[in-house]
Amino acid sequence: MKHRTQPIKDSYNRRIDYLRVSITDKCNLKCVYCMPSKGLTYFKESEVLTDEEIVRFVRIAHTHGLRKVRITGGEPLVRKNIIQLVASLKEIGIRDLSLTTNGILLSTLAGDLKQAGLDRVNISLDTMDAKVYRKITKEGDIARVWESIREAERVNLTPVKINVVPIRGLNDGEISSFASLTFEKNYHIRFIEFMPANCNGIWAKDKCVSSAEIMQQISGLGNLERLTFKGRGPSRNFRFKGAAGVIGIISPLSDHFCGYCNRLRLTADGKIRPCLFSREEIDIKTPMREGVSDDAMEKLFFRAVKIKPQRHLLNEDPASGGHLKTMSKIGG
Ligand code: SAM
Ligand code: SF4
Repeated sequence: MKHRTQPIKDSYNRRIDYLRVSITDKCNLKCVYCMPSKGLTYFKESEVLTDEEIVRFVRIAHTHGLRKVRITGGEPLVRKNIIQLVASLKEIGIRDLSLTTNGILLSTLAGDLKQAGLDRVNISLDTMDAKVYRKITKEGDIARVWESIREAERVNLTPVKINVVPIRGLNDGEISSFASLTFEKNYHIRFIEFMPANCNGIWAKDKCVSSAEIMQQISGLGNLERLTFKGRGPSRNFRFKGAAGVIGIISPLSDHFCGYCNRLRLTADGKIRPCLFSREEIDIKTPMREGVSDDAMEKLFFRAVKIKPQRHLLNEDPASGGHLKTMSKIGG
């Protein structure tokens, strides 16, 4: 197998150099917009990819220009041997290795994760109010999340990015407070539009806070400058003049970013998902367990890249996300 220096391109000339790997569908929280409160079943342990299987696939993708890996879930920090898995992924030579977490367990693991080679973290926090936090997450203790944010900063899992999903009537009154944190702290506050995953029936178009509305709410706080970063991503980034941190807006619905999407997803049960909203997935677990060669695995990777759709249709038809499994099953 040859090692490419340039990332592979898909059918629409997009460079595919980013993989989001969901390593578990289990979670220690039950956020209302992510986990159904009733009827959720988890993958059996035997259905979930092993560390070796994940590492093997990432190694093959890396030979075709994979540069960035984000570990997600479910809650990735509930997986056994997470430190060893991070170390094995970093050893492959992944340049940018990050992890998205709810922050409940991070404060005790942050130092070891950094040592194992993790570069940075995204921590999900939708509110600064302890009661609202419990309402959103069902059982979460917000103090532990703040402790994790501080610990992530201390051990240099930076820049610490904070994911906020504004939902009308729940936490949309806190958009300015989150944005204001960036005046003093080098946090990247990322507002993510509420997406219509198949969850608790709570999604409705009027519950989503659009990027335009977020901009309107925060523009009075200071002079916002547009930033351009190296690399490509879904986030449109801004900084208040003189502020330490950054504000990112991710708006898959009101302003989709498919034209420069650079990612594939790997689900915990071993399927490559070319797009978050794909109906088609490519099973890599069964062939791996049947003993296929690396060359055959490589072909499955190429196929996933090839069938990556040009764009999703959520903007025109939010119901087209209705087939979507809960985010905790795919890795949001
Ligand atoms: N458990 C980890 C966490 O909460 O950060 C990682 C997995 S979680 C599925 C990843 C991200 O997806 C979180 O930032 C969460 O807020 C986001 N998410 C989940 N459901 C969502 C939805 N319906 N719309 C937008 N974002 C969602
Ligand atoms: Fe768990 Fe993250 Fe989903 Fe919340 S958003 S239920 S923390 S996987």
